[in-house]
This record gives sequence, C-alpha cells and structure tokens, in this order.
Amino acid sequence: MSSHAHLADQIEDLLPQTQCTQCGYNGCRPYAEAIAQGTAKINQCPPGGQEGITRLATLLGQKPLPLNPHHGTERARTTAVIDPNRCIGCTLCIQACPVDAIVGAAKHMHIVLEDWCTGCNLCVAPCPVDCIDMIVVDTQTGWQAWSASQANAARARHTRHQQRLQQLACANKTNAQSPTDHNPVTPPENSATSESAPLTPQNRKQSLVAQAMARAAMQRTTKS
Ligand code: SF4
Ligand code: SF4
Ligand code: SF4
Repeated sequence: MSSHAHLADQIEDLLPQTQCTQCGYNGCRPYAEAIAQGTAKINQCPPGGQEGITRLATLLGQKPLPLNPHHGTERARTTAVIDPNRCIGCTLCIQACPVDAIVGAAKHMHIVLEDWCTGCNLCVAPCPVDCIDMIVVDTQTGWQAWSASQANAARARHTRHQQRLQQLACANKTNAQSPTDHNPVTPPENSATSESAPLTPQNRKQSLVAQAMARAAMQRTTKS
C-alpha cells in the first residue's frame, strides 16, 4: 500500500461516514483521498463538526480551522421518516440512499431503517410527494450521537452499495452490447420479509424491516 493510500485510510477512519456529500465529494472516501493529496481542506465536513476537524488536524500536524460554512453548519443528528399515508412507492428514495437504509417495493409504502439511517438528507429532494421528514434523533428517540461503530457499519454498507452499482453498470453495459438481450438489469429492490432465522447480516436487515413495518403499522393505527 502506498503512503498516500495509507494516509487516506487514516483520514477516512476519522470521518463520520454519513456519506452526505456536503464536503463537496461523493462520500467520505473521496474526501479523505482529497485531503491526503492536499487538494481539500480539513474543515469541510459538517457532520464531523469542530471535533472532527480537531482530530484531522492532530493526525496531519496542522492547526485546526473553523468549519467552512460554505459546506454547512454543525447541527443535531437527524433521521429520515417516511409518511406512510403519502408514500406512492416510486422507489426514488431507495436509489438515492447511499447506505441502503430504505426498504420497500415499487408501488408500496417505503420504510426507513432507523438504525441504518445516517441522516444524510439525500433521500428528501428526490421524493416527488415530499413525504420524507428529517427529525432530530436525540429529542425523538433518546439516541446518542453517531457512534464509531455506527460509522463503521455505515461505511461497510456504503461500500457494498457502491459495489452493487458498479456490478449493475457492468451488467447493463454488457446487455446493451448484446443484440439478443435488450432487457436492462434493474437494481434489486429491497423487500420486506418476516421470516425468522439466525442473525446473519442479511437476516438482521430482515428483522429490522419487520420491526420498522410493525412500527409503521402501529403509527397508522394510532392515527386512525
Ligand atoms: S460525512 Fe459527509 S461531509 Fe463528512 S466526509 Fe463524509 S460525505 Fe463528506
Ligand atoms: S434514509 Fe435518507 S437520510 Fe437516511 S441514510 Fe438513507 S438517504 Fe440518508
Ligand atoms: S421517494 Fe417518496 S414517494 Fe417515492 S418511495 Fe420514497 S418516500 Fe415513497
């Protein structure tokens, strides 16, 4: 591994992994690489805030800078919530989510897995019926600040998300070149299941889906 890649790894370890793109890069890894190359400053990550800037400064032997307001401001952590009564099941939010925290099928209500949502906000703008709200986590649920283990899990999910997109792009390219097969490969939609099974990562996701659907059903019952 080159010293540049090693430094980028160390920098990436200090970033919050929300994958929100507020730094101006398409995720935490590209920003880490830009810092390692000296083409980005250390004060461009609002989710990391001043504490994150200080950590980066210590690693790089630089003076801490104030957060650059051009990239946003420090604020309480939020999570996305979908209004089940207004969701039309268009799947646009699933396509926008960088960490696969939204589940649902076409023309059916979609649900956010709260444990997986980084609060990146990227699903809000694509929603055609404006039925996604960002709520402050600590006042609504009592959760603590985004932890290192949550950041690591989000990074792993984002990596898998990126790999899947690359595989789909390759498959679609191959299909486009084949005169006998004109069916494009579409992204697999996240689907809900209530099967019980040992807690593999996939089954954990299924369990979270079932829990989220039960919560949504309860919310609808309470409202009606
Ligand atoms: S958390 Fe957002 S702003 Fe910070 S490095 Fe990652 S993508 Fe960039
Ligand atoms: S559900 Fe929305 S806010 Fe949460 S991680 Fe996915 S895109 Fe970001
Ligand atoms: S983008 Fe909005 S309407 Fe479409 S599936 Fe997501 S929450 Fe539902």
